Amino acid sequence: MTHPKTVLITGSTSGIGLGIAEKFASQGMNIIVNGFGPEKEIKKICDDLKKAGSPRVMYSDADMTKPSDIDHMCAKALQEFGTVDILVNNAGIQFVSPIEDFPDHKWDDIIAINLSSAFHTTKHLIKAMKANDWGRIINIASAHGLVASPYKSAYIAAKHGLIGMTKTIALEAADHGITANSICPGYVLTPLVENQISDQAKAHNMSEDDVVEKVILAPQAVKKFAKIEEIAELAAFLAGDAAQGITGSAYSIDGGWTAR
Ligand code: NAD
Repeated sequence: MTHPKTVLITGSTSGIGLGIAEKFASQGMNIIVNGFGPEKEIKKICDDLKKAGSPRVMYSDADMTKPSDIDHMCAKALQEFGTVDILVNNAGIQFVSPIEDFPDHKWDDIIAINLSSAFHTTKHLIKAMKANDWGRIINIASAHGLVASPYKSAYIAAKHGLIGMTKTIALEAADHGITANSICPGYVLTPLVENQISDQAKAHNMSEDDVVEKVILAPQAVKKFAKIEEIAELAAFLAGDAAQGITGSAYSIDGGWTAR
């Protein structure tokens, strides 16, 4: 019998990260959940992942702004499971402001969570992947890793950086059966985007429906949000053996946004 694979997904208590955790749980993998939320909710998430098919679920409250927390989470994962076969760097936050008013601490937090945390997890976990001659690193970037929009300087810098770092890891790790790829969603209706919709509606005195139609989905040719499950399906494909030759790529699920 083959051992179940182990997946660590940062920021998996909500949105896309949780959807990816559910997908891998349904494939019978051990899951390391990370992210914030009320204790009761996190317990329910872990119980539900077990019900969905995960043999073992571990939760880490590591704060992705803190390298020492990240190192501790990774060390604990290696101690409990021996290795992390699939690493999904997904944790991310957003803040929108003209650059002249962009608070320094928001810049620092976005760079730390959306970019540097992926450096720290990879640095810590890649040795065990190399020892096994197998590994998958999947970084959740964004259409904003490929193109810019105004007022999102930190987010766009972090996501462009994440795609660049992913390519470097792909080159360094190729001889060890490890692939590294980015997924670049357009808009997916999660709490991260719901907050942007309500903020923009207030700021521009528009209805939320108008914000969705005239602002949020304006750059996409397909005027629909991508579903969380669609991002999870691509992550599962990239984690599978059929994707062993795909590395250093950035995959868009953006309704044609970056085709323009
Ligand atoms: P979300 O707000 O639903 O989830 C974010 C997750 O990150 C949560 O689990 C939260 O607890 C966790 N998190 C936040 N700060 C953290 C910290 N300091 N330490 C540890 N965990 C932390 O957001 P989402 O929309 O699911 O976003 C997930 C990823 O997808 C992000 O990297 C985001 O940039 C990216 N993305 C989202 C969209 C979209 O439209 N929703 C589009 C492109 C890319």
